[in-house]
Amino acid sequence: MRFFYWNKNFETGLPEIDRQHRRLVDLINELASAFTDGSKLPQVQMLMNQLLSYAAEHFSDEELLTETSSLSEKEKSLHKKSHRGFVRKTQEIFQRTDLLQAEVAEQILEFLTTWLISHILEADMKIARALMPKRPVQAREPKQDQSLVEVSPMVRVLIGALSETERRFRLISDHAPVLIWLADSAGSRGFFNRAWTDFVGIDTETAQNSDYMDFVHPDDRKAYQAVVAGLLENPEPVQTEYRLRKYDGKYNWFLEKILPRIEPDGLFMGLIASATDISAIKQAESLLTQSNQELEQEVARRTAQLEQLMLTDPLTGIGNRRRLTNWLEEETARAQRYRRPLTAIFFDLDHFKHVNDTYGHAVGDSVLIQVAKSLKANLRQCDLLGRFGGEEFVVLLIETGLDDAFAVAERMRAAVSRLQFADMAEQVTISGGLAELRPGETWEKLLQRSDQALYRAKKSGRNCCQTGCATPALVQK
Ligand code: GH3
Ligand code: MG
Ligand code: MG
Repeated sequence: MRFFYWNKNFETGLPEIDRQHRRLVDLINELASAFTDGSKLPQVQMLMNQLLSYAAEHFSDEELLTETSSLSEKEKSLHKKSHRGFVRKTQEIFQRTDLLQAEVAEQILEFLTTWLISHILEADMKIARALMPKRPVQAREPKQDQSLVEVSPMVRVLIGALSETERRFRLISDHAPVLIWLADSAGSRGFFNRAWTDFVGIDTETAQNSDYMDFVHPDDRKAYQAVVAGLLENPEPVQTEYRLRKYDGKYNWFLEKILPRIEPDGLFMGLIASATDISAIKQAESLLTQSNQELEQEVARRTAQLEQLMLTDPLTGIGNRRRLTNWLEEETARAQRYRRPLTAIFFDLDHFKHVNDTYGHAVGDSVLIQVAKSLKANLRQCDLLGRFGGEEFVVLLIETGLDDAFAVAERMRAAVSRLQFADMAEQVTISGGLAELRPGETWEKLLQRSDQALYRAKKSGRNCCQTGCATPALVQK
């Protein structure tokens, strides 16, 4: 477990000093791990001695360097005093026998990290500045007369970042069941909790040096990037969903809540995010959506089936009276609107009662089925045929005037008269009455006139077709 995260802000710019500082940080982290991993006292004491002797070496190197700097004697001696103070306090602590108690360990780690950070950021930086070749003064550089104890906002932020609260946060977050990351105010992610590193399958350092977007599903990157960029522009709490790559290469859905970290004085410090695995919810959602879609499809299929049933004659399978009525309404309206010809034929089986009476109802039914089939077979695809009721059929001939319709009706009549039946020696005939739609006429009226023509056909001996005209012979060529 790491307690102290190295940050480029800790760099003094003096390579050897920076190397030694990093070593000190590593030693503190090793000590922290020993405390939390339940190591035995000798191991902890050994690490402490190592830390102390390394610190002493480092201090003497640093003090030698200080001597060559342009710092005042007072500042040099203050710096040395600070080193002595650290050594004395550390020696004191290391004598304690209750080191393994959690609270004591925590206090020790707090002292070590806080002292080191504040010392690096204040005293050591001052030396580094004094040793560096002079550069032209920039607007943001601290003023020359700034005193050693004056804490710059950056120092305050960094000390704050590794304060007690922060360390506690890290401890707690490593045991949290959600994925947590922290980013600085530029959006650079510097901390990932254990749940995060365990899920993605890499350690914190690798994660810090990687592009976070590499772990985000390619399809979600653009949207996610936009959310984070928007947050840095305008730091407000947001939540977003995206897929994060697991150590095995698969992706899980996460709901991530990102909060800006704002100091009490309003300074924006960065972002903190916690992400919950919502794969199971997503999966349930998609199953639910899928079954809803299936259900909708099934309902639509059944509705269509039902409509079909409602509009179909069960005996012959052709359109029933309801469908005929719909067709009549639609086709009459269309023909009237576009002034197109439309002719209706009313067919009725001749002496059908005799068929039923002689051969029985079942034979009568099969005759009706065969007649319907024959009528259909002699129609064009666009024409409409329905059973009006009993042994009556209606045909609507689209785009057809009376003359052409009469020829069609005759062809249909002749075809029926040629039908042979398995259960019946006799043949059946039909009579037909035709009427062509007149301008402004309703479908009811059209049907009525074709029925009247049918009546005339029956009157004139059956097995023939008649038109609604007074002089059918002229039409009947
Ligand atoms: P016309 O030539 O004057 O039309 O004489 P018709 O016997 O055909 O006319 P009528 O109206 O007297 O008789 C119609 C018969 O059609 C009576 C009825 O039993 C029969 N019928 C009506 N619907 C069905 C049916 O679904 N199945 C059977 N088998 N017969 C039916
Ligand atoms: Mg009848
Ligand atoms: Mg009849």
